[in-house]
Amino acid sequence: MAFEGLTERLQKAMEKLRRKPKVTEADLRETMREIRLALLEADVNFSVVKDFVKKVREKATGAEVLKGLNPAQQIVKIVNDELTALMGSEAVALNKAPHIPTVIMMVGLQGAGKTTTAGKLAYRLKNEENARPMFIAADVYRPAAITQLQQVADSIDVPVFKKGTDVDPVEIVREGLTQAKENHNDYVIIDTAGRLQIDEQLMDELVNIKKLAEPNEILLVVDAMTGQNAVATAQGFDEKLDVTGVVLTKLDGDTRGGAAMSIRAVTGKPIKFVGEGEKMENLDVFHPDRMASRILG
Ligand code: GDP
Repeated sequence: MAFEGLTERLQKAMEKLRRKPKVTEADLRETMREIRLALLEADVNFSVVKDFVKKVREKATGAEVLKGLNPAQQIVKIVNDELTALMGSEAVALNKAPHIPTVIMMVGLQGAGKTTTAGKLAYRLKNEENARPMFIAADVYRPAAITQLQQVADSIDVPVFKKGTDVDPVEIVREGLTQAKENHNDYVIIDTAGRLQIDEQLMDELVNIKKLAEPNEILLVVDAMTGQNAVATAQGFDEKLDVTGVVLTKLDGDTRGGAAMSIRAVTGKPIKFVGEGEKMENLDVFHPDRMASRILG
């Protein structure tokens, strides 16, 4: 990931401020304007930008900041802190069930990276916790989806519970969960269907799967490269499903950063992981503070 444009613009604004022997209210206004434009250009949600700039301005206007030593440096710190807060302050861990199995439901639009992310997550759990995950193939609309899940699963040696495409997905999940309990799998990862757009029928199906499976975690997978569309998608899924976390995929190809900076603020839901490549090892825990540092460069 490289939010080059954003990083460069923010750095420029800060550099300008640093060169001033003393920072006036007018300088501060100018810096705030530059930050606002940089964020808007990065495709950050409009009201998020407004709110962000207001918060930074309030903190920076404090007499101590402008009159104190190194006002520019203090403002950089305020921007850094507020960026971190915007993205959720701290990394949020995966929810775990008190008794195995922990049930994780993957949801998202087709092509967002749901199946790949399911694989990455299982791979991660295997490596980090010596876990024994199992997948449930609950996307019955595209035969290729089941084949793809099987391929991913084979590559990391994780079993798949599948029943083809002629069985009701809720029934598949029911049977899959029974099997996982019998086999003492500690994680069950349900790969659900996705569509090109959010539609009623898909949402109803996901709601029914949720009711039956009572997942500990509903991970919404969204494509970072789609910017504000990713944010709108997240809102749509969250309204119906009350998701517990977001995975932002394709951050490696995202040059702007708007989704990463807006999703938490708009939905209130934490980004738990980010995908930064197609390989199974390319899934990282999302750390808001590290992301803020990357953005500020
Ligand atoms: P699904 O339809 O939501 O299950 O999406 P897939 O898992 O099939 O992913 C769609 C495409 O996105 C595939 O070609 C994946 O390899 C690719 N993909 C998924 N996650 C990432 C990521 O983090 N970075 C990149 N560059 N590609 C990804």
